[in-house]
Amino acid sequence: MKVRYFDHAATTYVKGEVLREMLPYFRIKYGNPSSLYGVGRKSKKAIDIARKKVAKAINANAKEIYFTSCGSESDNLAIKGVAYANKGKNIITSKIEHPAVLNTCKSLEKEGYEITYLNVDSKGRINIEELVNSIKEDTVLISVMFANNEIGTIEPIEEIGKIAKKNNILFHTDCVQAIGNVKIDVNKMNIDLLSMSAHKFYGPKGVGALYVREDIKLHKLQDGGHQEKEKRAGTENVAGIVGIGKAIEIANMNIDRYNLKLKILRDYCIEQITRFFPNVKINGSIINRLPGNINISFPNINGEELLLKLDEYGICVSSGSACSSGEEKPSHVLEAIGVKKEFIKGTIRITLGEENTKQDIDYLIKCLKNIIPKISKTN
Ligand code: PLP
Repeated sequence: MKVRYFDHAATTYVKGEVLREMLPYFRIKYGNPSSLYGVGRKSKKAIDIARKKVAKAINANAKEIYFTSCGSESDNLAIKGVAYANKGKNIITSKIEHPAVLNTCKSLEKEGYEITYLNVDSKGRINIEELVNSIKEDTVLISVMFANNEIGTIEPIEEIGKIAKKNNILFHTDCVQAIGNVKIDVNKMNIDLLSMSAHKFYGPKGVGALYVREDIKLHKLQDGGHQEKEKRAGTENVAGIVGIGKAIEIANMNIDRYNLKLKILRDYCIEQITRFFPNVKINGSIINRLPGNINISFPNINGEELLLKLDEYGICVSSGSACSSGEEKPSHVLEAIGVKKEFIKGTIRITLGEENTKQDIDYLIKCLKNIIPKISKTN
């Protein structure tokens, strides 16, 4: 059975061009980048090149990029790293952040930090006035995600950046879902720290990056060697780093075309679903939305049951965020935007990617038309 994959917010496959660049670093150019002889220097050079590529994609300097193991590690390093190295005990974040940010904040709370959780409106956007009113004398950091992983809503990043700058507060954004889908310019947007993860934009799993503006004080979270300018000890994942560099280069080169393709498919999918299932609720903002995200709630349906039925037809979707699927608790994001409990239960997330076609969407709709009447609780 052909698999139709609609879960690109969970992860993506590794592009052939990316894998090809990575392969020599497993068996041929396997030197430790810290070694002084030629094979080691080759690995170091490959890391330097990747660092330049990542920096270029977000209009940063190569020396402002630190490689990590994933988006979660980048979020931890950004938030705890800033909190420990700078004065101020208050951090402002939003209620709809990924657990990588929320749980980092919770752990800081236990250490005596005060966390302000901003509300979001029914589309999932923070309120700028509430942000301004939340700023305190000891606010050290604002951490608001670029785009939400469940509902795809894009936050008013430039406005947040302006406010942070005006008030002399550092601004971190979890950009894991936005990189490769939206153009990012850390200077224009006044972003001081930015997290990303390669496996969300056709790069390998197990490698991420954190951008940290040059003059910012950051505390390391791990003791060890001198790698990554002493901010992230441990022998570098050279092949992975080569992979993130290549993947971001390709993503940025094709961003306009990719964005347009996904938007057309997404709008077609929403139009078809709402046509055949007029009672559904589309969650999140229609205007400020990631191009490939569709988050829908079906009334009187169990989302997990629907997910498993779709799986029988070779269709992969998510019943919530990748990291919380399988959990019994209702999505904190859907709760925060005010989706009623009975709708939350019947929610699925469809996230499109480059291999998806109109025919794939037609097949999905056909399967939904077949499945929904059979599992609807009113029948
Ligand atoms: N932040 C967001 C918004 C995400 O969507 C994810 C993963 O889904 C992460 C952070 C964590 O990234 P990683 O899986 O690379 O740790």
